[in-house]
Amino acid sequence: MAKSKTPSHRIRTKLATLGRDTEGQHGFVNPAVYHGATVLYPTIEKLLERKSYGGFRDKGKGYSYGLRGTPTMDALEEVLTELDGGEGTVLLPSGLAAVTLSLLTVAGAGDHILVTDSVYQPTRIFCQGTLARLGVETTYYDPHIGGGIADLFRDNTKAVFTESPGSQTFEVQDIAAIATAAKSIGAAVVNDNTWATPLNFRPLEHGVDLALYAGTKYFTGHADVLMGSITANEAWWKRLRRTHDEIGMGLAPNDVFLALRGLRTMAQRLAQHESSALDIAAWLESRPEVSRVLHPGLASHPDHALFKRQFDGSTGLFSLILNPAPKDAFHAFMNALTLFGMGYSWGGYESLAIPFNPAPYRTVTTFEAEGPCVRLHIGLEDPEDLKEDLDRAFAVMAQASK
Ligand SMILES: *Cc1c(COP(=O)(O)O)cnc(C)c1O
Repeated sequence: MAKSKTPSHRIRTKLATLGRDTEGQHGFVNPAVYHGATVLYPTIEKLLERKSYGGFRDKGKGYSYGLRGTPTMDALEEVLTELDGGEGTVLLPSGLAAVTLSLLTVAGAGDHILVTDSVYQPTRIFCQGTLARLGVETTYYDPHIGGGIADLFRDNTKAVFTESPGSQTFEVQDIAAIATAAKSIGAAVVNDNTWATPLNFRPLEHGVDLALYAGTKYFTGHADVLMGSITANEAWWKRLRRTHDEIGMGLAPNDVFLALRGLRTMAQRLAQHESSALDIAAWLESRPEVSRVLHPGLASHPDHALFKRQFDGSTGLFSLILNPAPKDAFHAFMNALTLFGMGYSWGGYESLAIPFNPAPYRTVTTFEAEGPCVRLHIGLEDPEDLKEDLDRAFAVMAQASK
């Protein structure tokens, strides 16, 4: 069950106060960036004592080696653990590393796992590649399956991987129903909660065992850091910690610092991303060029009721399906955008637009789009300027359609 060291504090207060040790930092507000590989032991006795726990990290027994933790890492891990009400957090060099390490933690040779068909595509590639090579079999499932997931369980099913809303297509999953079913057979539930962040959805409260994040997105928030994290509940923490220690992945000291700094303003950034994205999504729904807007925070979204039941809010990323348009006209629209950059990743302060088409790699559900699909990230620019930019690009598209 989720737990917290500061239960009386609301999440924005936690973001401003956790992970700080003013006294230990000579009065400075922020922690120092500890650059270090080697840690020196004062005596051979201390060194041998450390060896007796296998060189792995053991909090409260001091530092042993740069990869095994620094005071800066402790501060960031504390914030992330508390936000999700977990037992502990590991830090990783990318969101994708958080995906792969979470799966390596819960599955091994001969095991079967279930993965949502709406998953971030590189997660699927890892399941079909390295995980398959290691002898783990993956079955994909309909993101709307809910408690029906039980029909897919086998004797060797060890984990269910969820991501809600789905990458690019924004289907909302009933995480609590899936987790209840998974618990009945002792399977672990993993959740990629990158889109919502712990501000808008707290996976462990819905029965998830391992919540993972691409901190590259909103934690750091400035399109300048790659990072990932996994927060585990009590049942899975030791296994996660050990797998992380064995695999040797860490996060560079400056990036640990930048992630901690990013988190301090995450709530305020997200409030703006959310309101601007909802405003622009509603405006896009009224546009004749747009067939559908895929944003679970809109009343028109097919999963809106489930979304409202599980989430406290939304963020800046959603998709739209345009009405059918010739390829040249669609390209003219994309090329005419000036405030929306064309590029992967998202979660920084700037707006982005990318075309997408998940149809070729879906395996158990079909995604049918009546026209070109675009994923937008709404940044911190003034939403009126963003609408004007889209309006101008639609006019260019209309001109090119003639
Ligand atoms: C971006 C993203 C990742 C991967 O994060 P990287 O830091 O780019 O490796 C994983 N899951 C989701 C949902 C993402 O959006």
